[in-house]
Amino acid sequence: MRLDFEVLELRTRHSFAIARAASMPVRHSIWVRVQDNDEVTGWGEAAVTTPYYGETAETATAVLPLLGATLEEAAIGDPFALERIEAAVQNRLGGNSAVKTAISAALHDLVGKKLEVPVWRLWGLDPVGPISSFTIAIDDVERMRERVIEAAAYPILKIKVGTARDEEILGMIREEAPDKTIRVDANTGWTVKQTLAALPMLEEYGVELIEQPLPPDDLEGMRAVTAASTIPTVADESCKTAADIPDLVGAVDVINIKLSKCGSLREGLRMVHCARAHHMQVMLGCMIESTLGVAAAIQLAPLVDYVDLDGAALLAADPFQGPGIDPDGKLRFNEAPGLGVTCTSS
Ligand SMILES: [Mg+2]
Repeated sequence: MRLDFEVLELRTRHSFAIARAASMPVRHSIWVRVQDNDEVTGWGEAAVTTPYYGETAETATAVLPLLGATLEEAAIGDPFALERIEAAVQNRLGGNSAVKTAISAALHDLVGKKLEVPVWRLWGLDPVGPISSFTIAIDDVERMRERVIEAAAYPILKIKVGTARDEEILGMIREEAPDKTIRVDANTGWTVKQTLAALPMLEEYGVELIEQPLPPDDLEGMRAVTAASTIPTVADESCKTAADIPDLVGAVDVINIKLSKCGSLREGLRMVHCARAHHMQVMLGCMIESTLGVAAAIQLAPLVDYVDLDGAALLAADPFQGPGIDPDGKLRFNEAPGLGVTCTSS
């Protein structure tokens, strides 16, 4: 099995700031390709677009060359041995979740192409899922207003908060979008005290979900918030893999799965079932990433309660086309084998 990769430059259409990170003019993502002995090729994306989780284009391009031999050895002529190959990649790398996810996505793409079925069908799923939210990033209030107007077709907005002007922002959102479903994501930007104080305002504005108000390790704080809140709470930065879920029971109502955090498509599936076993709800999210990365995540969407897969919709230009979200937030699956993605640029 051969492995090669290419660094992609991604730019968002508008500046994209959140509570814990300023906007970046250019982000890098890695297009990973694996090819088996029959010359069938599978693609995956390592969305190393946010340095928060410790991965960058530099770390990804440093570790990817180490994986060629691991893949070759683990696959030994059998690309269908997905558990074995993923375990070998896991053992070789430890961290580097986005890189491991790209390999996993490429292997699933390859297997789907060999069997001539989309990955969602390989998993026995129907190609339907919840409507995706569209993110309004932090900016000055008037620019955020322009983004809300531009996002008129999306029925669900995820508003980035964690600023000194959150109430003003939510007031503006309700002026422009009185009937839309709105979710807030503070990206660890609030304290327990601030979150508890914000609850009446969030309730008044009809907020549907409160995502990651507190720092990732403050599970005690999250317990207090969740106990006090009538609005369900979501763990994103606090929840990377299935192993994080048992500690989150009682601390949040919902976990947010992102493939680039969890390290593989199969770990994403395990997270869904682990959360269900603990009577928790599941959101499926993504980073700023192209349609190649979003298409891998969307294969899991039939299994979740909430979807936030706007990563490619936020881009100025997308090098790929395939499964994703339509401008009204509806999920777009396709019947093409594997991940169903093609390249649009030469
Ligand atoms: Mg989040």
